[in-house]
Amino acid sequence: MEQFFNYDDLKDLYDIAIIGGGPAGLTAGIYAARDNLDTIILEKNFPGGQVGITEIIENYPGFPDGIMGGDLAEKMFLHARKFGVQVKNGICGKIEIDGKYKIIHLEHSVHKIKAKSIIFATGAKPLHLEVPGENKFLGRGISFCATCDGAFYKDKVVAVIGGGDSAVEEGNYLTKFAKKVYIVHRRDKLRAAKILQDRAFKNPKIEFIYNCVVKEVKGEEKINAITLHNRVEEKDFDLPVDGVFVFIGWTADTELLKGMVDMDDSGFIKTDEHMATKIPGIFAAGDNRLKELRQVVTAVADGAIAAKSAEKYIEENF
Ligand code: NAP
Repeated sequence: MEQFFNYDDLKDLYDIAIIGGGPAGLTAGIYAARDNLDTIILEKNFPGGQVGITEIIENYPGFPDGIMGGDLAEKMFLHARKFGVQVKNGICGKIEIDGKYKIIHLEHSVHKIKAKSIIFATGAKPLHLEVPGENKFLGRGISFCATCDGAFYKDKVVAVIGGGDSAVEEGNYLTKFAKKVYIVHRRDKLRAAKILQDRAFKNPKIEFIYNCVVKEVKGEEKINAITLHNRVEEKDFDLPVDGVFVFIGWTADTELLKGMVDMDDSGFIKTDEHMATKIPGIFAAGDNRLKELRQVVTAVADGAIAAKSAEKYIEENF
């Protein structure tokens, strides 16, 4: 996918600046640009967000055989670009309110983006285990992305931590490479959708370990084991593994707006049904928003609503 690091063609003023180029941000871009609003998306990694690092999406309507996450991300990106959305790679360091205008200060750059409204679509980031040894092996044995790192574990033994959709789905995916996948869950019942559970139960390479939490990640140069604590038997034991994939949920990526808009204790932004935060002209969309169901399909819906709300806000206030 193209990358956009050149800021020379930044405009003096945008109608809408979208922070985050995942499904919510890209959809907001499509809707805004189709309404002839000057729109820019600022994305810190690559467009597509979590979708881009998902192997296959099986529940996005219109794709009965599923669609590869990377393909869906690219289609959404190209769709937004087709209607004229500017997409830039960059990190938003600070948001400043200047009367009716919003100023986005970029990290590692003197450039600023000035806009009449902002759609904050930064998504969520994975929760960490927060146990001894985790930091030591981050990126070299501890992973939060099976699509990115699974191939490193050909014929090896890995542990997947968690009992939700991500853990069970990605555990299944990892059996393409690993000779053995343990799915370690803290309770005796999985939270994952039934269809994903059934698939995993039938997979001979997967073994479930219930009622256990990770106490430590062990190894010298490489991971060689995790210490598990069985919460029912109140016993610790070591499980030899070569890698650990952590899928224990997500926290909102919203530090930038902390203290400015209302959030819950985990940083998920409170909006009304129009995706409006308590700051006029700042909207939130996607997985960083406080809501029941975080899926691609709800993210794109949020993005569309946020763009329409931003358009109305601009009409009424400029
Ligand atoms: P999730 O649904 O929040 O599940 C997190 C899992 O980790 C739960 O089983 C939880 O246990 C466990 N957990 C939480 N904290 C833990 C800790 N400190 N130590 C050990 N285990 C811990 O997260 P997710 O699976 O990433 O899914 C996030 C959202 O994305 C969900 O809405 C999900 O439906 C969606 N998603 C959908 C699909 C799909 O539709 N195919 C695929 C992936 C994700 P408890 O069960 O005991 O709370």
